[in-house]
Amino acid sequence: MKPAPFDYLAPTSLADAVEALGSYGADAKVLAGGQSLVPVMAMRMSRFDHLIDLNRIPELDFVRHEAADVVIGAMTRESRVGSDPTIAENVPLLTDATQYIGHFQIRNRGTLGGSLAHADPAAEYPAVAMALDATMHLVGPDGSRSVSPEEFFLGPMTCCAEDEELLHSVSFPVWGPGSGFSVQEFARRAGDFATAGVAVGIRVADGVVDKAAIAFFGMASAPVRARELEIELVGQKAMDLDFQEVGNQAVAHLQPPDDIHASSSLRRQIGAQLASRALSTAVKEAT
Ligand SMILES: Cc1cc2nc3c(=O)[nH]c(=O)nc-3n(C[C@H](O)[C@H](O)[C@H](O)COP(=O)(O)OP(=O)(O)OC[C@H]3O[C@@H](n4cnc5c(N)ncnc54)[C@H](O)[C@@H]3O)c2cc1C
Repeated sequence: MKPAPFDYLAPTSLADAVEALGSYGADAKVLAGGQSLVPVMAMRMSRFDHLIDLNRIPELDFVRHEAADVVIGAMTRESRVGSDPTIAENVPLLTDATQYIGHFQIRNRGTLGGSLAHADPAAEYPAVAMALDATMHLVGPDGSRSVSPEEFFLGPMTCCAEDEELLHSVSFPVWGPGSGFSVQEFARRAGDFATAGVAVGIRVADGVVDKAAIAFFGMASAPVRARELEIELVGQKAMDLDFQEVGNQAVAHLQPPDDIHASSSLRRQIGAQLASRALSTAVKEAT
């Protein structure tokens, strides 16, 4: 099928894009890499009057190390996120996650902001943002605001951006020395969205865990943290951790979806194994 007719706008500045969004609101949609939006338009599952193309706005494509964060513009391509040395050194969980996203052709067009705004529950970047307690910066005609991942991801394919807002950038905290990270996922074929996956971060000081984050994807309607377990892990000797047991505990309270790809109980079993493997890898890296 072909998309329904629409007006095409290609602003060359953020101010012009925001002005257009302010004028057209719910009658408009922004285009980033088009890897999800274009197929949805072609199937006429999404119809609107104005398409605002963000691809000619250089202000949205950047990677900056600012104080304790790495800040990444929404239009930064996934291929750059996966290869940027500043990101690799300071936010290696993002680098690790990128290898699992589709294929290189998709990563060459797909953007960090598009992936987050699209909010696919099985996508890697939303879980990384959740695990690292990233801050999402939104901008609209009434100004800008910053929200946590918990506030940003509202459910499957739904984020908190209002019709007149766009995601400008995301700040990822740098965990610093003594940290280890790992993304693990299971997909039926390389490049497919994950049946289940997990993003893990561990920081160890003097052999003791002082920070832990476990965020699952493909296991709920949005990325989900194992927060109670993370608190229990803090203060434990890293070398004494029983990874399999921690993996089992991490999924114990989840009610994963039951669909054609996997039953809920299979997803829980896969999630436990992945969490165990990710924790073991992260601890090894951290110590
Ligand atoms: C075959 C295939 C396999 C894939 N596999 C994976 C995978 O394994 N893992 C994975 O995570 N992803 C996967 N993807 C998705 C892809 O990597 C992109 O992340 C995703 O398509 C969205 O990014 P995009 O830049 O293309 O956004 P677009 O498709 O342009 O936009 C997606 C949505 O986000 C909105 N949007 C985009 N940018 C902004 C912004 N700055 N502010 C507000 N709203 C915005 C758009 O309006 C639209 O609603 C796959 C895609 C394909 C086609």
